[in-house]
Amino acid sequence: MKILVVEDELKTGKYLKQGLMEAGFVVDLARDGEDGLHCALTEAYDLAILDVMLPGIDGWQVLQGIRRAGKEMPVLFLTARDDVDDRVKGLELGADDYLLKPFAFSELLARVRTLLRRGGKAKEPDLLRAADLELDLLRRRAARSGKRIDLTSKEFALLELLLRRQGEVLPRSLIASQVWDMNFDSDTNVIEVAIRRLRAKVDDGFEPKLIHTIRGMGYVLETTA
Ligand code: CA
Repeated sequence: MKILVVEDELKTGKYLKQGLMEAGFVVDLARDGEDGLHCALTEAYDLAILDVMLPGIDGWQVLQGIRRAGKEMPVLFLTARDDVDDRVKGLELGADDYLLKPFAFSELLARVRTLLRRGGKAKEPDLLRAADLELDLLRRRAARSGKRIDLTSKEFALLELLLRRQGEVLPRSLIASQVWDMNFDSDTNVIEVAIRRLRAKVDDGFEPKLIHTIRGMGYVLETTA
């Protein structure tokens, strides 16, 4: 799951990015409204967190731009002002929830999870499956034939993407944009190495093999090769 954070305060931005990454999300951090809106319109995100007070175009304008472009991802806004008008304005402009600063990270994470369950696609499954492989999105666990598989957070995100788009050949550029953040250099062999490690964990000692390389095109997860 990929989240866009638009926050100009360096400390808060880093804190949000770090915390969300540790919770298993892929995070892009934009430092002003223009950059944030550009990211929101050019990349695919499952959720956006917008600070209201931003230099240049503010959080409201970013939100309007997102909705005007027909993007329906859930938006959580952060506001420092305990102002009823602010909350009403945000919700009217199409935000899904708001949080007053300062907030506890656990509170933010709870809101984010609720919005992701509610928002976007009609019903968000808690469990993704292929053959006897199971990925539990709530408990963040993977198992094959009931046997627990330990995954790093990147491996988890990678497997989640492959499972969500089962049967579809995913080019490396798509994997890079969905599993790594925007500063990632996709010319390196990081994806290849990550796939190799993931495949060793998921497929070694099991049948059928699930993760396949399609030479020159990308990777696919499917139950029949
Ligand atoms: Ca701010």
